[in-house]
Amino acid sequence: MSTTPDTTPAPADAAGAANIVEKRVRSRPGEKRRTRSGTAAWHMSKQAVTLTVSDVMAMSEHKVHEYWVTQRWGSRKTVVCPHCGTIDAHLWRREATRWQCLACKRGFSVTSCTPFANHQKPLKEILAMALIWANGASGIPALEMRRHVGGKFVHVFVREHKFRESLMRGFNVGLMAGDVEMDGVHQSGRRSVEKRGRPQASPKLTPEAVEEKFETLQAKLQADSTKVAAKAKQSKTRATTGVKDGTYGMTLHPDRRIVICARSRSGVPGKGGKRTRVGVGRTEGPLAVNAIIDQFLAVPESILNTDGAKAYIEPGTKFLAHRSVEHAKELVGPAGENTNLGEEFARRHKRAEQGIYLNIEPKYTLDYGAETAWRSDTRRMGNGGQLEHLLAITLRNGVSQFWLGYSKGRHREVEFLAGEGEVPARSSGPKKGYSATGPKNVRPPR
Ligand SMILES: [Zn+2]
Repeated sequence: MSTTPDTTPAPADAAGAANIVEKRVRSRPGEKRRTRSGTAAWHMSKQAVTLTVSDVMAMSEHKVHEYWVTQRWGSRKTVVCPHCGTIDAHLWRREATRWQCLACKRGFSVTSCTPFANHQKPLKEILAMALIWANGASGIPALEMRRHVGGKFVHVFVREHKFRESLMRGFNVGLMAGDVEMDGVHQSGRRSVEKRGRPQASPKLTPEAVEEKFETLQAKLQADSTKVAAKAKQSKTRATTGVKDGTYGMTLHPDRRIVICARSRSGVPGKGGKRTRVGVGRTEGPLAVNAIIDQFLAVPESILNTDGAKAYIEPGTKFLAHRSVEHAKELVGPAGENTNLGEEFARRHKRAEQGIYLNIEPKYTLDYGAETAWRSDTRRMGNGGQLEHLLAITLRNGVSQFWLGYSKGRHREVEFLAGEGEVPARSSGPKKGYSATGPKNVRPPR
């Protein structure tokens, strides 16, 4: 992840998005009426839905191919040979739906050197899947996606992760300047190690089991009195394995991650954030915070807005100004200090973590953080525009570095932590081929 100037297209609002919000019916003073918020006005509008799955399925093969070409290169006349970089209207071989480069004579297709190189599914089906994925406000789990598109779970899981990888490498990059907010959101990952690879449902209740439960109830009630003491002992054991958080003064679980976001304000009232960058730390401490500031913020040209976390005090002095609000006391300071955009990101990530994806593997936290950042930034784009934006990023970042050969056991063994770089991280579940219940390994991949 480089610190080159921002080249990713800014997710601009769909034309007229502001008008929809301003034109909404408001109640006059004294009038009792259910009013519509700006968000509701946007989502109920025509502009919010510009492409549907049936639109995609009704596209001809040629139209689908044209769509991919446009998202990757802009037009058929500006096709770039992925082997030598020559830009031209190369020799088109219609039957093979491939080009032959006019300079180096090598052949290539619209997906060559992209995450979808050597794809098995037709382009149309991948496009429909991408649309469904883009349609989720906080995310679409692979299990749900599989119900829409079919196929093996692992293939759907990998295809979703290819989008996340592209967002991580192609969207979550570049310097930002201006009025910037920073905030961290805890992603628990609590007890994920013990949950991995084990069935989570409780055993079936039989009359004998109920009887047994009743008998043990008495013993349990007695045990409860000593539970508090046991819990204290347990947290003491945990304390030796985690990292101490500077803000909370607590020792955090080793699986705990903090997703720290930096969001630049649009400056237009009611329009919210413009761009979002994310990094992941073990704590919201100086190590991660300073690394994220170095990577994403043009410090001398920016104003920093944060909550009262200690880690921001020292770097805050280098900014044009540092406005902070003490969240323990108030949400908005006396002079309007706030981190509302950071909170918006935090809630969206929490919804994804706790309501949609459930039990995100700590080593993939940045992948999911980048996804949330993209979803936050494109929130006022029509879904057709979101799909174009997603595909343009995905097709311009080369082949997948982490997800090729995943179903054959080639898994990413590093985690990206702000300030620590690439940290070795193995899968936390049992090894492929291991089974606690029988000869068949049915654990979900990760
Ligand atoms: Zn070439």
